[in-house]
Formats: sequence, structure tokens, C-alpha cells
Amino acid sequence: MSKKKLPFSKDFLIEIISKFPTPFHIYDEKSIRENARKLLQAFAWAPEFKEYFAVKATPNPHIIKILKEEGFGADCSSLAELIMADKAGIYGENIMFSSNNTPASEYKVARELGAIINLDDISHIEYLAKHAGIPDIISFRYNPGPLREGGNTIIGKPEEAKYGLTHEQIIDAFRLMRDKGVKRFGLHTMVISNELDPNYFIETANMMFDLVVEIYRDLGIRIEFVNFGGGIGIPYNPGEEAVDLNYVGQGVKDAYERKITAGGLHPLKLALESGRMITGPYGYLVSKVLHKKETYKNYVGLDACMVDLMRPGMYGAYHHITVPGKEDMSHDHTYDVTGSLCENIDKFAVDRKLPKIDIGDIVVIHDTGAHGHAMGFNYNGKLRSAELLLRPDGTVKLIRRAETIDDYFSTLDFSDL
Ligand SMILES: *Cc1c(COP(=O)(O)O)cnc(C)c1O
Repeated sequence: MSKKKLPFSKDFLIEIISKFPTPFHIYDEKSIRENARKLLQAFAWAPEFKEYFAVKATPNPHIIKILKEEGFGADCSSLAELIMADKAGIYGENIMFSSNNTPASEYKVARELGAIINLDDISHIEYLAKHAGIPDIISFRYNPGPLREGGNTIIGKPEEAKYGLTHEQIIDAFRLMRDKGVKRFGLHTMVISNELDPNYFIETANMMFDLVVEIYRDLGIRIEFVNFGGGIGIPYNPGEEAVDLNYVGQGVKDAYERKITAGGLHPLKLALESGRMITGPYGYLVSKVLHKKETYKNYVGLDACMVDLMRPGMYGAYHHITVPGKEDMSHDHTYDVTGSLCENIDKFAVDRKLPKIDIGDIVVIHDTGAHGHAMGFNYNGKLRSAELLLRPDGTVKLIRRAETIDDYFSTLDFSDL
């Protein structure tokens, strides 16, 4: 029926649930590691390649540490993410600070950690100089504007995105930094998000290599690295195909040879800041059916809600649902699968074909490994769930406990009412 499989059986889930009550997210370490290796393999041809995992996708130090062991750095954009990377043992230039609208206090910490600072605006040069000092390596985020057709719904069209410097500004910015005596430079862009067409990434590489050549020609600056950002999509829908990383790697290699090698600018270090593609497919939100309700539609109410996974409510995103033990039953019932927020968008699925569901069934929502637990919030007094790690040896480790009601009230003082 569906080619989306779970890395655990129903019996194993029941055993886990007996120790860790639903709802929780569980991450499959073995698959995350294998996937990390596949990405590095696709760029093994490059003189140097670094993946800075976008911490925002799965901000858990246990996950970051696993990725560090696979050779990844960290892409951070806030104080908490910098601290998280540091605590997971990633430091110095293995941290990329790709923030925007950044407060001085965060630039200071990024500087203290020796992170590579990736500026989002030309005006931030002065701001950085004033508050944290100019480091000896600096990167700028490029926004190409209306260069490409389409764009997609999450990040929109580049010219309407708040990120990055225009072409004219980025040339001025590099000139300014050169004149201030900076010697080491990086170039960054991220124009797409959750994109499944591998050609977009090759197109982006072509655009960036052209810019590297132009900057060398016009300013005499030799860019040290190009960071293509994140944005590699994952097949949320069973009908979609994963991005062929080797195809992307080879396409970028062709562009590299035609533009960088031929232009005499080899070696140039390449980097990515993928988040979604690294962990997304290897996380699962596990919950149980609390209620069923039949009115103008048929509803299945879970013990999880939008605070555990906001993508379906926020973007109308598709997340596949499996009812363990009922995989082979005919999917001849149509349900809205809901949470308990007093918000009608709190639905994991609308008009979804599923097997007949009963109260107490376990329901697993797929592809929650990135931008899942991470986007959680406490609206309606809802508590954020636990995170578990399924280790390669088959054991399960609690890597974040569930919030308690005391956590929720911890910022309030009831004594002075
Ligand atoms: C969100 C983000 C990423 C990661 O994006 P994914 O879609 O998870 O790959 C990388 N870099 C920056 C600057 C981002 O904002």
C-alpha cells in the first residue's frame, strides 16, 4: 500500500510505550548515520567539503554529537544554537553562524567561539565592527533576486525573501572588507527550501561559481569557500522521490570544473547547511488515539497535537501516517486526524484514507526528524513531548524528557498574586 516503512514493529513500539508514554518523537540513529555518509560520499570529489548541520532542524545535543562523529559541523543562528553546538563538541570554524537580524550579544558569543560569521546585510559590517570586532574570516549571504523562476512556498521568491545582500551590495561588501584588511572570505546563499528537483542545486552552484569568478576578476578577492545553504527536500509523500545526492554531487562537480578549475580558482572549499534532508526522514512522532468523533466529518483525536508537529497546520504539509499492525488492512476509511488545540488548523491530516481506526490504536506520523519537535510551542498550555533515540544496537535512549506542568509554570511567580 505504502512504501514508507517503520524501523520498528508494533510489538517493539508497545514495549517502548510501556517505558515512555506517548506522545514522543523517536529518531533512528543507524539511518541518520548512513544518510550522513551518503551525503559526504556525493561530495568526496571536492577538494574540501563540509556539511554544517542546521541545528534548528533537530536541536538536540545527542543528535548533533552523532553528526559531529560523522564529520559534520553546525549551522547556528541564535545564542541557544551556538551553545548547543559548543556543548556537542563543535567549535571554531566548524560552526557557521548564518543568522539574520542578529543582536550584538549573539555576534559576541559567535566571535568568542571562533565561529565563521555569515553576514546577512551590508549594514551589519559596521554593527559587527562596533559590537564584536571584525574577524579574520567573513562570509556574506547572497540574495540573487528575481533570477530564477518559481521559488517555492516555504521560502518564496528570492526577491521577496528577507535574507541576504543584493548583487550590488555583495560586491560593495567584499570590497569594503578587503579594504579593511580582511584576508579570508566565504560566500553563502540559500534560495530554496524543501526542494526535490536536484537541478535547482546544480543551478545554484553554477550561479555561485559565476559570482566567485566575478569577485576574483573585479576585486582580486579569492573566495575560500562557497556555502550552498540548506533546502534539500525529502519525500514526505509516498509518491515522491528522494533527491539523488550523487546526481547533485556530479552536477556540481561539472560546474566546478567548467567555472572554478578552468578559471584558475581551484581549490575552492564547498559547504552545505542541510537540516531537513539529514534527519527529517528518520524521525517519527508516535501517539495514541484518544477519541473518535463523527459529526459532519469523521475525526480521530490523538494525544499529540500541533505543538508536537506544526508543519501540517502551518503549511498544509503532508505527513504520512501509519497505524502499526494495520498496514495491510484496506485503507477504506476517511478521517481528519486531529490534536487537542482550540484551533481548527490543529490537524495532522485532512480527509486521509486510513484503515478503520479504534480508540487506543498507536498512530505513527512519518518524517518528523527535522523541523518537528524543534518547532514546538506551548500554546493552550500544551507540554512539549520527549525525544527518544533508537540506537543501532536496538536499544532506546531518552534524549530529552517530556516537559512537566512544573516546567510550564516555572517562569511564573504565584506567590505575589
Ligand atoms: C533553515 C536553514 C537551513 C536548513 O534548511 P533545511 O531546509 O532544513 O535544509 C540552512 N541554512 C539556513 C540559513 C537556514 O535558515
